Amino acid sequence: MRECPSCAMEVPADAAVCPVCGYEFPVPKAGVRASAWLFVALMVLFAVPLLAWLLGWFG
Ligand SMILES: [Zn+2]
Repeated sequence: MRECPSCAMEVPADAAVCPVCGYEFPVPKAGVRASAWLFVALMVLFAVPLLAWLLGWFG
């Protein structure tokens, strides 16, 4: 359980929205999503030169 910062009522710790007042708790998964996008960006940064090199070598 945790306290809602909006209405100060005890709400389930895993609740995304306060059932009393509708306050939306910050979602910690946003950081994970940003990391995933960073991973994709890094993959693209490595994949594009590699593809260019492969095309130049075999083409
Ligand atoms: Zn609330």
